Amino acid sequence: MVEQITDKLGRPIRDLRLSVTDRCNFRCDYCMPKEIFGDDFVFLPKDELLTFDEMVRIAQVYTRLGVKKIRITGGEPLLRRDLDKLIYQLNQLEGVEDIGLTTNGLLLKKHGQKLYDAGLRRINVSLDAIDDAVFQAINNRNIKASTILQQIDYAVAIGFQVKVNVVVQKGVNDDQIVPMVQYFKDKDVQIRFIEFMDVGNDNGWDFSKVVSKDEMLEMIEQNFDIEPVAPKYYGEVAKYYQHKDNKAQFGLITSVSQSFCSTCTRARLSSDGKFYGCLFSTVDGFNVKSFMRNGATDNELFEQFKALWNIRDDRYSDERTEQTVANRKRKKINMNYIGG
Ligand code: SF4
Repeated sequence: MVEQITDKLGRPIRDLRLSVTDRCNFRCDYCMPKEIFGDDFVFLPKDELLTFDEMVRIAQVYTRLGVKKIRITGGEPLLRRDLDKLIYQLNQLEGVEDIGLTTNGLLLKKHGQKLYDAGLRRINVSLDAIDDAVFQAINNRNIKASTILQQIDYAVAIGFQVKVNVVVQKGVNDDQIVPMVQYFKDKDVQIRFIEFMDVGNDNGWDFSKVVSKDEMLEMIEQNFDIEPVAPKYYGEVAKYYQHKDNKAQFGLITSVSQSFCSTCTRARLSSDGKFYGCLFSTVDGFNVKSFMRNGATDNELFEQFKALWNIRDDRYSDERTEQTVANRKRKKINMNYIGG
C-alpha cells in the first residue's frame, strides 16, 4: 500500500538516488580535482558505506512512499564490487518500475553483461568530450574519449539503452557540442548537454563558465536541421530536439538558465548513508545508516523518511544568484558522495 506524500512545495517523491561509493577512477576538475583527491586522500572505509542489504531495505521502504525509479550513482558506481547483486535485488522490489545507472563508462566492458543479466537496462554515461586530448585534459587520468566510445558501443550491443551526458563548460569543452551531436546522430544513443552547475565545493564554478541552453541550441542550429520535441512526462529535466531527417533526438538540460526545482521529485542517499533532499544541501543530511544500525524498524524508517520529505523545501537552482552561490561555498556535500 503506497502512501502518497508531498513536501512543503507540494512535490511528490518518485525517485531515489543511491550513491554506492565515494571513489572514482577519474579526477575531473569539477567533481574530484586531483589536487584535492590525491594519492593520500582518505576515502570512506568499507563499513562506512551502506551495505547492499541496507540499500535494498531503504529502497523498499521508499517504495511505500511512492518511489518508482532508482538511480545508482557514485563516485563511480562500477567500482563497487558485485554491483550486479544490488541491481538484481532492487529489481525484485514491488513498485520499482525503473532502475538506471550513471557511470563514466570505463568499466562497462568488464561489468556490463553481468549488470544486464541482473536486470539493468538503462545507463547514462558521463562523457564531456569526443576529442581525445580535450577529454584527457578533463579526466586527468589519461583516458581517451575513444576508449569510452568503444565501451558505449559494447553496452549498446548488449542491449542497454544508453544516454550520454555532457557537462558543458565555457572555454573547456563547448567546442565539443557540434562534433558530439554529429557523432551520436547516427548511433542508437541519445546525447544530452547539461549547463555547468556549482555542485560540490571544489568545482571552481562561476556564472561566466556556464554555456546556456540558448547558446548551445544556436550552435547546433547553425549546423543541423532540427525541431523541438514535446515533453514525454511530468518533471522531464531535458528539453528534447530531433534531427528532421533521421529523427534522432538529443537533449539540453537547463539546470541553471531555467531551473526545474518545482518538479524535483528526487531523494538522495549519499555514499556514507545520509539523506539529502537536494544536490545543493548545506545542512548535514539525516544519518539513515546510523538510524538503521541502531535498530530502527521498517515502520520507524518509513515514518522518518516521511518526516524528512514533509519538511523538504529545497529549491536551490530556482534561487541561484551570485550571492547564494557565495553563501553556500564550502558548505555543500561533495559530488563524490552524492553523484550528479
Ligand atoms: S536544485 Fe535541488 S531541488 Fe532544485 S532541481 Fe536541483 S536537486 Fe532538485
